This record gives sequence, structure tokens and C-alpha cells, in this order.
Amino acid sequence: MGDNNHFDLIVIGAGPGGYVAAIRAAQLGMNVACVEKDDSLGGTCLNVGCIPSKALLDSSELYQQATTHFSHHGIKASGVELDLKAMMARKDGVVTSLTRGVAGLFKKNKIQHVVGMGRVSGVGSVEVTGDDGSKRTVTASKILVATGSAPIELKSIPFDGKHIVSSTEALTFTQVPKKLLVIGAGAIGLELGSVWSRLGSEVVVIEFLDRILPLMDREMTTALQRSLVKQGITFRLNTGAQGATIEGGRVKLSWKSGETTKVEEADKLLVAIGRRPYTQSLGLREIGVAMDGRGFITVNSHFETNVSGIYAIGDVIGGAMLAHKAEEEGSACAELLAGKAGHVNYLAVPNVVYTFPELASVGLTEEEAKTKHGEIRVGKFPFTANGRARAMDATEGMVKIIGDAQTDRLLGMHILGARASDLIAEGAVAIEFASSCEDIARSVHAHPTLPEAIKEAALAVDKRAIHF
Ligand code: FAD
Repeated sequence: MGDNNHFDLIVIGAGPGGYVAAIRAAQLGMNVACVEKDDSLGGTCLNVGCIPSKALLDSSELYQQATTHFSHHGIKASGVELDLKAMMARKDGVVTSLTRGVAGLFKKNKIQHVVGMGRVSGVGSVEVTGDDGSKRTVTASKILVATGSAPIELKSIPFDGKHIVSSTEALTFTQVPKKLLVIGAGAIGLELGSVWSRLGSEVVVIEFLDRILPLMDREMTTALQRSLVKQGITFRLNTGAQGATIEGGRVKLSWKSGETTKVEEADKLLVAIGRRPYTQSLGLREIGVAMDGRGFITVNSHFETNVSGIYAIGDVIGGAMLAHKAEEEGSACAELLAGKAGHVNYLAVPNVVYTFPELASVGLTEEEAKTKHGEIRVGKFPFTANGRARAMDATEGMVKIIGDAQTDRLLGMHILGARASDLIAEGAVAIEFASSCEDIARSVHAHPTLPEAIKEAALAVDKRAIHF
């Protein structure tokens, strides 16, 4: 090694894209440094994204079950109380254990965590500025940018971190807001809206479009919306947020729907309208790295930018802004850098919304399948007809499978129901293996389990479901 400032690969950003790329590259024999501005590794996903939100979703679901659902099972629970401080402490504990786990993996794989803000100061060199202003330059023949994304702010409704907040602050409220307004009916808005609704907030979701979750299958999102409304969440669709003021510690949001303009008050306003690529102070423009109109870094099929030796993966290159997509790109990029055949099958990337019921999908929506394949066959199976769902008292939702009418190839799988996030793995594997719907229909599924609903939906593609 000799020079401890020179590496085979420098990864900037230790989110799921960056840390996985660093580990895979180290496994393949590279000497790797990972520049991360935060002390805590794991990026958005582990610190302020997937993990803390799921910890709160799981806790709030248990609270809701205890207060509303245990009696269905013949369990009398009295005196159930929310201890928000303890709930938040548990969430923080989960985050700490996982971020420390990544630090342990870095140690095991001899990856150097260089703490500080990285700036690409030239091809092959990264200047790292520490919190105290100290500077260090590290060099490598290859630089991988995995700096992720940040919440988008509305110009007319800027974040103040207290009343008008992003998802980051909505994960750390110290009191349950009496009323929470959410702008944006995407996954993050619906998940955090669900958390606070379950814990007692009146939640109103404001969405500019005429539907929730616009990229997912419409039939399934309509069913999910119905369910969320039943749980007490209000939706104002076709509604544009116009501006907000803070008066007497409350937010006043003005919105417009058709000809109606209104001012709605709440304790907190969560703006969850999407995320933008995070390339602040990275120095990429200065060295001519191409980006699209929205600031996403442009890469070729090998994740290389137009500047030789500089690569990018994860949220910062756009596409589905999901942790597992970033991870797959991290692995594939490291493999390509090592001269192997790295590849990501974007059609087989599942997408999950962790509401209750959960909504999970992989492959094409019914609308996309019709446009791309013409004739399709659709099989559906409701959880009301699944024995395990009945035993669990979780009969809401259904499985929908879409196949090509000519070839029977599986084109898409959509699941609305309890544990849909776990169930969708079967669809992802089936799409990866280019399975037919009949392949799934003929596979033995254990009884009684929720996945039997997948088998039945696959049978229904051929109009021969047994139990419905
Ligand atoms: P990031 O995770 O954003 O990591 C980038 C890292 O780079 C950060 O640690 C940052 O500090 C560092 N960095 C940036 N610039 C510099 C610099 N110049 N120098 C040094 N370090 C730098 N996805 C899912 O798949 N499932 C979910 O359930 C899910 N839930 C989510 C819930 C919420 C509330 C949010 C906000 C996001 C959620 N996501 C979820 C999205 C997921 O978190 C992201 O897609 C994922 O983290 C992207 O990974 P990444 O490695 O590209 O970037």
C-alpha cells in the first residue's frame, strides 16, 4: 500500500449504494476508502429513511392493534397508553445498532471511513473537509459518487424545521400533533401520515394529482386509499398547496382545489413531495460531469459518467429512489470495476409502501402492460379467501397477477395486504427467472400461508383459482 492517502477506489457517500459498493469492491480485492460527511454510516436509509420509518410504523401498528384489534382475538387490553419517548428511543436504538453494524462491516473488509465532506477536486482526487475545517486529499484511479438525495422544498412553503418539516423531522416529533397536514401522497407522505394517524393525529393529505401513488397500479392504489380513508385519513386530491404562514405556533396552509381556495390550520405540516439529487459542494460541475435538467448525474450502462474514472450510483442518478435499487447498483458497479459482469434488472425491482395494508409491486402495472404488450391476462385473488389471512384477521386486500396473453410470461405482480412487503419477493424472483404465470401456479406453496394467495392469483390468470 505505501501511501495511506492513495486507494484503488474512493466511494463518496456511505448510504446503501455507497457502503454496499465499498464492501463488494473490497471483497473483490480493491483497497477502498469511503468518504462520508456524517459520523454515522448508512446514509438516508439507515439514519433518516427506511429504518427509522419502519421502526415507527411497526411500533404504531402494534399500538393500534392493542387499542382497536386485540378484542377481535378475544384479548381484553385495558390501560393501553402511548409512551412516545420510549417509542422514539426504541427507534433510535434500532438505527444505532444498524449503523454500528455497517461500521463493523467496514472494519471487517478493511475499508477506510474518511470522515468529512468530499469534493472531487480533479480526476482521481477528492478533497475531504472535516467538521473542524481541516483538509485532507485522497486519491484513486476510480471515484464512485453515491451521495444520494435530499428532500425537495417548496419555494412558497419553505421548511422551518419545527412547524413546516421534511420527513427527517417528522420522524422525531416529541408530541403527537393534534392535526398533521401532509403535502404529497407518495410513499413517504402516506407512511409517515399513517404513523401519526395511528398515534392519534388527525391527518389530512393534500395531493396535486387526482390519485395517490401515481406510479403504481391504479386499481390497487384506489383500494389502498379506500382503506386509509376508513382508518381516518382525509385526502384532498386535485389540490394545490399555495403558501403557508405560522401564527401562534400553528401552521396556516392555503390550498386551491378547482375554484375553491381555503386556509387550513394544523400543528405541523409535512412536505413530502419527493427528493432531489444531492450534489452540493461536490465539485462535479467544475470538472464537467454531465447532469440532467433536474440535477441527476448522467451515467452509461457501466455507471460511468462522461468524465472517465468517475462513476455514480443510487439516488443521485435517479430512477426508482429506493435503497435496494441503490444497493444493487453498488454491487453491479463494483463488479464492473473489477472486470466482472455486473448488471441490474430494473424490471425486477420491487416497490413497497409500508402502510396498512401494505402495497407492494414488481414489474408492470396493468396500464403499462396493456400499452407495452397489448393482450394481457389478469388473475386476482382476495385475502378474504385465504385461510391464513382469516386466521390472522387480516383479510383486507388482494393479489393481482398480470401475464402476457400469448406467452403467459409474468409481467407484473401487485399485492395489497398484510406482509405484502415480504410476499413480493416471490414476484421479484419469478420476474428475474422470466417465469410464466403457470410456473407460479404449479409451484407448491405451504398451507396455510399468505403466499397461497399468490399461487391462487396465478391460477386465476388461467381462470382456474380453486378457492374463489
Ligand atoms: P443515501 O442513502 O442518501 O446516502 C448518501 C450518503 O452520502 C449520505 O450518508 C450523505 O451524508 C453522504 N454524502 C452526501 N454528500 C456527501 C459529500 N459531499 N461528502 C461526503 N458524504 C456525502 N427506500 C426503500 O427502498 N425502502 C423504504 O422503505 C424507504 N423508506 C424511506 C423513508 C424515508 C422517510 C426516506 C427519506 C427515504 C426512504 N427510502 C426508502 C429511500 C432510501 O432511503 C434511499 O433510496 C436510499 O437511502 C438511497 O441510497 P443512496 O446510497 O443512493 O443515498
